[in-house]
Amino acid sequence: MTPKDRQNIEPPEVIVVAADVDEVRCDGGGGPLGHPVVWYSFDGASEVECGYCDRKFVKKTDA
Ligand SMILES: [Zn+2]
Repeated sequence: MTPKDRQNIEPPEVIVVAADVDEVRCDGGGGPLGHPVVWYSFDGASEVECGYCDRKFVKKTDA
């Protein structure tokens, strides 16, 4: 933890996935903060955002 991390509003979690992944699954991490499982397709984009929990899935670009 650094002083920069101490903010009232936490930024959305970013999850990096492999460059060849086309679909990601999100359930909010499970537990009380979770949500129904949803699948998102990158569909050519380099990142997708979960409409439930604002998590962002980003494709790893550098090899
Ligand atoms: Zn989610």
